[in-house]
Amino acid sequence: MSLPMLSIHDLNVWYGAAQALFQVSIQVAPGELVVLQGLNGAGKSTLLQAIMGLGPRVTGDIRYENRNIQEWQPHLRAQAGLGYVAEDRRLFTGLSVQANLRLAARGDVDSNQALVWQLFPVLQTMLRRRAGQMSGGEQQMLAIARTLMTSPRMLLLDEPCEGIAPVLVENIVAALLTLKAQGMSMLVAEQNNILTDCADRVFTLAAGQLTT
Ligand code: ATP
Repeated sequence: MSLPMLSIHDLNVWYGAAQALFQVSIQVAPGELVVLQGLNGAGKSTLLQAIMGLGPRVTGDIRYENRNIQEWQPHLRAQAGLGYVAEDRRLFTGLSVQANLRLAARGDVDSNQALVWQLFPVLQTMLRRRAGQMSGGEQQMLAIARTLMTSPRMLLLDEPCEGIAPVLVENIVAALLTLKAQGMSMLVAEQNNILTDCADRVFTLAAGQLTT
């Protein structure tokens, strides 16, 4: 494997006195699609949040593009190119599609916008719709699109296909594969095994520990 884009070594995470992750070590190489599997409560969201600096108490090493980012504030991790799409999507539900995208924009806005329209053309037909009035699948597309407006070099996606109409799942999978073909690195947490067949590698978490 070439030098990893993201390298996590012996990560432990606690919520108060309760330990949620135990000695977790994973790597993602540039351009890889890595899937993190596990049942509800296995610790997938906790791992992605820890990578973004959103977690509670953490020990271990988190290296991104060969820098130790363990002590960095979340916004600095985002500025360094880590794009996070949370399970609850965190959209501005009272604002329009256009406003959600515009507020996130950073870097080369025109080429990011062109990429978003290429991947999710349906969003272009609902620019003025409030995010809160979209279906779950449309909101998920908008959440991914919004993150793409920040010029990420690596995406962390939490359950991108969960609870979404099949036709929109197809669109989201196709979009992620297009991004992969363009060299995007991705770590995807999911419990429904939709992306495992397309993954370069699959890690499985159970009760906070890696089993593969
Ligand atoms: P899901 O798909 O349901 O989100 P997950 O694999 O992402 O599952 P986590 O949400 O990371 O799992 O949860 C891992 C463990 O940490 C669980 O035991 C959960 O109860 C616990 N946990 C998660 N968030 C908190 C919190 N804010 N406070 C206390 N414990 C938490």
